[in-house]
Amino acid sequence: MGPGADPVNPREFDPSQLDRGRKHSLDLEFAAAGTALRLPVLLVRGERPGPVFAVSAGVHGDEYEGIQTIYEVVEALDPAAMSGDLLAVPVANEPAFWHGTRTSPLDDGNLARVFPGNPNGSPTEAIAWHFDQSILAHADLYLDLHSAGVRCLMPSLIGYDASDERSRIAAEAFGASVIWAHPTVAPGRTISAARARGIPALYTEARGAGRVHPADLRLYRRGVFNLLRHLGILAGEPETVPCQWRLHGDGNIDDSVLATRPGFLISDVELLQTVAEGQTMGRLLDLHGRTLDVFRAPRAGVVALIHACPKVESGEPLFLVTGVAA
Ligand SMILES: [Zn+2]
Repeated sequence: MGPGADPVNPREFDPSQLDRGRKHSLDLEFAAAGTALRLPVLLVRGERPGPVFAVSAGVHGDEYEGIQTIYEVVEALDPAAMSGDLLAVPVANEPAFWHGTRTSPLDDGNLARVFPGNPNGSPTEAIAWHFDQSILAHADLYLDLHSAGVRCLMPSLIGYDASDERSRIAAEAFGASVIWAHPTVAPGRTISAARARGIPALYTEARGAGRVHPADLRLYRRGVFNLLRHLGILAGEPETVPCQWRLHGDGNIDDSVLATRPGFLISDVELLQTVAEGQTMGRLLDLHGRTLDVFRAPRAGVVALIHACPKVESGEPLFLVTGVAA
């Protein structure tokens, strides 16, 4: 990004045409609704041919673990030891990143809801379109590094599209103690766009809250290196870790228990706690401390998301309960 990055027209970007055996720093530049935009790209081209592993972070502008992971992995890689390429976008939604928010300040767009995008649409739709056309189109495996952002908490995990056996095997190779299988993937996501292209796809979550926790950074770094080994881009076997939780369910945050009004949230549950259907998970209070709402588990399962900030706005996700694999 910035000085030292080569500007490239995304319609002319083809990583297979760039020099092997070195690291490239590029900006894919375009405009939408009168705003100049870019996708910063870090491409590590192995000395020998092989698969292309595409990794992104910063799809939401307040999730930082994946961004740091990409910078550290790119720095650590040696192209001479690689058979294939790492194609990385460390900050996919640059306007949201600089604004420090999940969505874009330009159009309030959520980049994880507008795929495959539109080159003539809003800035967020144009970013999605160029990401799909210029990054996903070249991938043999795709990993999208998310986290819970500044307002929520989620367990650190790898999630995958359970309709694709290649995605399941790659999720096992990533090496996480929580693995979440999604029988369906909601539209508009990076993962659904990869699926539409027939590309196996994974994503991560972590506790987030606007911080980079060292354990989550280690998990993400190890996971990316494990997938480079899984694909044969690097020699050696993935470092396995025991899986402690196998979650199973749609995992659509939009289907969480949502706040219907503003208030002060008191949570009675913890991440990965087992809950019974109807069990109280928390309460929303007014400014005099009176209970406005009581939130109950809509199903039996485990808690996979908690609104971490006590100040709640109407419409925000508060609790997500998912199933556990049999
Ligand atoms: Zn996210």
